[in-house]
Amino acid sequence: MARYIFITGGVVSSLGKGLMAASLAALLQARGYKVRIRKFDPYLNVDPGTMSPYQHGEVYVTDDGAETDLDLGHYERFTGVSARQSDNITSGRVYRDIIAKERRGDYLGATVQVIPHVTDAIKQFALDDQEDLDFILCEIGGTVGDIESLPFMEAIRQLRNDLEPMQTLSVHVTLVPYIAAAGELKTKPTQHSVRELASLGIKPDVLLCRAEHPIPDGERQKIANFCNVRKESVIPALDAPSIYSVPLQYHQEGLDAEVLRGFGITDAPEPDLSGWADVTDRYFNPEGEVTIGVVGKYVGLPDAYKSLNEALVHGGMANRVKVNIKWIDAEVFEGSDSDIASALEPMHGILVPGGFGERGSEGKIASVRFARTRNVPFFGICLGMQMACVESAREAGFDKASSTEFGETGEPVVGIISEWMSEEGIQQREEGGDLGGTMRLGAYEAKLSANSHTSRIYDGATTISERHRHRYEVNAAYIEPLERQGLVFSGMSPDGLLPEIVERPDHPWFVGVQFHPELKSRPFDPHPLFAGFISAALEQSRLV
Ligand code: GLN
Repeated sequence: MARYIFITGGVVSSLGKGLMAASLAALLQARGYKVRIRKFDPYLNVDPGTMSPYQHGEVYVTDDGAETDLDLGHYERFTGVSARQSDNITSGRVYRDIIAKERRGDYLGATVQVIPHVTDAIKQFALDDQEDLDFILCEIGGTVGDIESLPFMEAIRQLRNDLEPMQTLSVHVTLVPYIAAAGELKTKPTQHSVRELASLGIKPDVLLCRAEHPIPDGERQKIANFCNVRKESVIPALDAPSIYSVPLQYHQEGLDAEVLRGFGITDAPEPDLSGWADVTDRYFNPEGEVTIGVVGKYVGLPDAYKSLNEALVHGGMANRVKVNIKWIDAEVFEGSDSDIASALEPMHGILVPGGFGERGSEGKIASVRFARTRNVPFFGICLGMQMACVESAREAGFDKASSTEFGETGEPVVGIISEWMSEEGIQQREEGGDLGGTMRLGAYEAKLSANSHTSRIYDGATTISERHRHRYEVNAAYIEPLERQGLVFSGMSPDGLLPEIVERPDHPWFVGVQFHPELKSRPFDPHPLFAGFISAALEQSRLV
């Protein structure tokens, strides 16, 4: 029987509920329990796939091709459990399914209402698709009191009655602000937030109180008294020096022990936290450092490249070095070559990440050229790989080489794919079709050429599986001229039609991949491409 932990947030948004859920799950896992984490997003988009990264941060893609909230990335990185389509739901998806059923006549003449139809659908989502699990953590997006989240709160309230008495637990994340003028921590916002939650019929069992200053015992007792919980259930959650120290920090504050006590579990095994100790040791005690320039479009908002940022950190952990990331706006490179040189010369590695649209593309191509001609380690991901191919094509004499994503071009080195094979069979798309959920999404295999640089990076593997999220592909018609120019296509789709990986044997480290390896990197298991790239950057740092 799986136990449910419902995680809500109060007072303000951005308290790091996702990280908290991931950390709690990691601690339970360290005690030997099987966990899964789910995210309930109250907004009306069917999924975040069409939202701007500036609005919503990165779109995280699962193996089974769901475009999901970036919190699912935290969940995977902290627990190693691969998320699935069934781990993220939005109000938009619930309503879309209900309205489709209504149109089909499935409700047999009934009036379709928020209660019970919407709440039943949410409850079903929480209960569905679970294997033999010990704990399912359900994080509710937004802040208690939001109009949009009401059906989710109601569904939790009902579930707590539907399930066994000791089968569910409510964790509420709040803020205990410090008012400098008064020199005091304030508990009132937490009290109000808990009252709001209680008015929806949910009594929290554990309060996780985010604070910038230590919460004295007296204040903890006060929160406990006013909020109707035990003092031990008021867990201080002070700002952490790194996200990777959060699980150990919460453990020290007693979070996992208190959650288990809430379920009446008193004989839980002690957690094995050696993996986390190793990760924090590698993070806090590096033996060197490298600087990586990431030339992209959404550089003003680090959340837009969340997984990429973490994967670079993991690559650093693998090599025991600190990775300084310099976020560089590709658009500033559309000017002169001397600007490019002065910005990129201090870099030990250059990475052009995934992206959409023409803006900044010439700057990205110029960065590829800089990395190629100056022998600086280069890593191109998705759009970055496409731009590497365009750069080589221009070098090969195709002056007009471009991607059809940026408009009509005489040399479509990158073009839209209208047909490809997936596990479900042939997929077809046409120009001008819907944007939502129609890309090549999720895990696809690639065959690697034996003895290629990339196959060595993957430990000699000849077949790999990586996650995709793109609409355009490098045009196979250009493979021959590009290979003559020195670019090797060392990874292809199993049917041999779609280029997956390019590399340059004439360069110290030059790899472009059509997929997103950053989505599968974990602190305990850094992705080999990132570990390899950072190792090459370390070599480069010794040269300059
Ligand atoms: N815009 C490109 C495409 O759709 C690349 C996408 C990406 O980088 N994720 O193919």
